Amino acid sequence: MIRFKLSNLDEYLSEIDNDINKFHKYVKVLIDNLHARGDTTHNLLVNLFKAYAACSDQTFVKYMSDVQTRWEDDEALTPNQLMQKAAHKFKILKSKDLWEVPSAQDEKITALESVLTDMKKKLKQFKEGKKRGNKDGRNERPKKQKYESTKKPSWMYERPKDADLTKPREWNGAKWYYCSTETGGKCHGVYRKHHPNECRTIQPKNQKAGKGKKGKPKKKMGDNGGNMDVVVAQQAIGDPSSPDDGDVLMGGYETE
Ligand SMILES: [Zn+2]
Repeated sequence: MIRFKLSNLDEYLSEIDNDINKFHKYVKVLIDNLHARGDTTHNLLVNLFKAYAACSDQTFVKYMSDVQTRWEDDEALTPNQLMQKAAHKFKILKSKDLWEVPSAQDEKITALESVLTDMKKKLKQFKEGKKRGNKDGRNERPKKQKYESTKKPSWMYERPKDADLTKPREWNGAKWYYCSTETGGKCHGVYRKHHPNECRTIQPKNQKAGKGKKGKPKKKMGDNGGNMDVVVAQQAIGDPSSPDDGDVLMGGYETE
C-alpha cells in the first residue's frame, strides 16, 4: 500500500491543491512507515519528479524539470535534497505572489474564450431578433406571405445603375420596380411589385399605442445599406429563414 501511494504521488499533489509543503510532509510519513518495516524505496526521486511535473504552477514545473535534467546528467541528488529545492522554490514563488499566476499563454486562451463567448451571445441575440421580426411581419400582413416561396435575390436590395432605375425586372413570375424617392416612390430603395407611382404608406393604424416597435426603428434602417447587411448576414449564417425578411425589415410601407 505504501509503495502504491509512493508511485501515485502526482495524484496526491493535485488532491491537496498543489500545496508543496503538505505534500512533503505526506511523503516523509510514507518513507518513515516504509523504514519502520525495514523496507526502502529506490525510485523515490523518479516518483517525486513525476509529481512535481504534474504541478499546476508552470514556473515551478519548469524549474523542477531543469533539476531533473541535471540529475539525469549524473548530478548527485538525494530525495531530501530534491524536496529541499522544491520547498525553497515553492516558498520563493509564494512570497512573491507568483505561485499559480496564470502564464501568458493561459491569459491568451482566457482572452480568446471571452471573445468567443461574446460572439456567441451576439449571434444568439441576432437570431432571436430576427425571429421576433418574422412574427411581427405575420401579424401585420398574414395573407401576403404565401406568394414568395423563394428567397429574394440580393439585387432586390441594391440600387440599379442610373439607366436601369425605372426599368422593371422580372423575378418569380412578376415584374419588380425599384421603389425609392428617386423613382417617385416612398420605399427605401428596394425592388417591389408595385410601381413607384402607386407606392403608398401604411399609417401606423395597427400599432398598439406606446409600443411603436414596428414603425420607428425600421424606418431608421433607411437606405438599403442596413438591409444589405442583414441579407448578407443571413446568407453567411445559412439560416433557412422566411424569404420575406427583407420586406419585414422594410416595414411601415405597403409593399405589394
Ligand atoms: Zn414603394
